[in-house]
Amino acid sequence: MSAAPSLAENGREQAFDVVVVGAGFAGMYMLHRLRELGFSVRVFEQGSDVGGTWYWNRYPGARCDVESMQYSYSFSDELQQEWEWSERYAPQSEILKYARHVAERFGLRTDIVFNTRIERAEFDEGDSAWEVTTSDGRTVRARFVVFATGCLSNARMPDIKGLAGFAGQVYHTGHWPHEGVDFSGKRVGVIGTGSSSIQSVPVIAEQASHLFVFQRTPNFSIPARNAALTADERDAFRRNYPEIRRFAREEARNGIYAEPPDRGALDDGENTRRDKYEQRWTKGGLTFMLAYNNLLLDKAANDTAADFVRDKIAEIVKDPETARRLQPDNHPIGTKRICVDTDYYAAFNRPNVTLVDIRSTGIEEIRPHAVRVAARDYEIDALVLATGFDAMTGSLAKIDIRGRGGRTLNQKWTEGPKTYLGLMSEGFPNLFIITGPGSPSVLSNMIVSIEQHVDWIADCLAFLRKRTMTTMEANREAEEQWVAHVNDVAHQTLYPQANSWYMGANIPGKPRIFMPYIGGVGAYRKICDDVAAKGYDGFTMTAKAAERVAATS
Ligand SMILES: Cc1cc2nc3c(=O)[nH]c(=O)nc-3n(C[C@H](O)[C@H](O)[C@H](O)COP(=O)(O)OP(=O)(O)OC[C@H]3O[C@@H](n4cnc5c(N)ncnc54)[C@H](O)[C@@H]3O)c2cc1C
Repeated sequence: MSAAPSLAENGREQAFDVVVVGAGFAGMYMLHRLRELGFSVRVFEQGSDVGGTWYWNRYPGARCDVESMQYSYSFSDELQQEWEWSERYAPQSEILKYARHVAERFGLRTDIVFNTRIERAEFDEGDSAWEVTTSDGRTVRARFVVFATGCLSNARMPDIKGLAGFAGQVYHTGHWPHEGVDFSGKRVGVIGTGSSSIQSVPVIAEQASHLFVFQRTPNFSIPARNAALTADERDAFRRNYPEIRRFAREEARNGIYAEPPDRGALDDGENTRRDKYEQRWTKGGLTFMLAYNNLLLDKAANDTAADFVRDKIAEIVKDPETARRLQPDNHPIGTKRICVDTDYYAAFNRPNVTLVDIRSTGIEEIRPHAVRVAARDYEIDALVLATGFDAMTGSLAKIDIRGRGGRTLNQKWTEGPKTYLGLMSEGFPNLFIITGPGSPSVLSNMIVSIEQHVDWIADCLAFLRKRTMTTMEANREAEEQWVAHVNDVAHQTLYPQANSWYMGANIPGKPRIFMPYIGGVGAYRKICDDVAAKGYDGFTMTAKAAERVAATS
């Protein structure tokens, strides 16, 4: 440690340089980096193990939708060379195994306290430190707090009349039982048709005696074309990792290595365009949207891709009425996170699967043995809520975070989240957020974004320590400019046209603000690096002694 004042060294019990909240991929890597730099760190995790998303989301069919060779840490070449991904898109169990492997390999567990929620964090202005309260009533102090609480970690329970009185089992995809669920011979209802539903429906359909899928909004989904990875495919990635990772970090908009488009959709004639979409459809996966460079900018261009997928749905689904209902028609393709599936649309050809459209009627009521829609009861034995998350801000909002003057983060964010670079919020010194609102986060391969934020925060804390600074805070003006910029960039695209969870639209009463930064991970990284190179432009750093002088003068 340097000469900088260190809470861990001042003899107090349970005092650390940094408290990290959450032990998903973000919290784990944050811990690793900070320990390497010699900071004392304690991580608190409410679950009983590492892995975050992959610890909680154990529903049938759960897997990543960014290819595993890319949806993995890049910080250790040994790690990426030695880990064997079995499939193009690894299943949840394998990603969790990977997270556990990383925890063991880097000896992370000794500094993680499991089964412990952080309920409250209060900034002590006199001491420039955070007092953090755990769910078992303990208090720990830390100079800095890093919230690695996840963007999709606060499962959203729908407010449906009668839900509490349902006689069968109710499961949320984001809180799936560890022992698994066997739906054999059961009549099952799935509420929601977002990504978790699209992944789980084909799998549940194979077990259930009958499956009812309750759909409010149809979503666009592209086939995953998942398959076992061959040794040659793995080796090709491993050999080319330096370039693949560089491209994903610096050049890609979404943190994924893929051939970038060189033209707009309307620059090609209809036949060429259809051929290109067909190639992307056959290849499968999220890069479908990279067929052209203006699909998220120009509605006419977007319509060509949306029509292509709608035609595919009509081709796959035999019943024309079901096909029509599955065809998304209320948002441009890609403006809600595009889904990646294995046989989702084909599942509706099975005699034991029924699509129930609730767009105009909603669900009237859940009865002890049925879901009632438009005065009709759909009898079920088990209910699956695939109703998503209070995204990006939900997990932070559940913590009582108090900054300067006792002001809570929820009070500050009443009209929507405000951050500078998605990393810090004015009035909350020494508090960092990983992949927070205002950063590319959920619009990207999130491990790329996580590693970038962790590295930036780690470098920043080392910078503060070297200069014996104890407090860092975003400036209001810089924050306002950043919020305006995030908003401006979003409105140059088609994204705000969708009522998506990017906008908070899935949570009643949540302010409608486009939360992630659309500028792209490469451009965003340059901005963050530039801010750091200019001595953390837009932030104020102070030393404790100076603050005391200022306070008494
Ligand atoms: C089903 C699903 C599939 C996904 N697939 C992909 C994909 O293919 N590609 C991609 O880029 N992204 C994907 N994501 C997004 C995914 O969340 C991120 O990729 C990544 O795992 C996030 O890591 P994290 O550490 O930031 O957050 P998380 O993994 O969400 O971890 C946050 C942790 O913080 C803990 N926590 C929260 N609040 C508290 C508290 N108050 N006290 C203590 N602990 C707390 C939570 O328990 C959780 O373990 C997916 C998300 C879901 C839900």
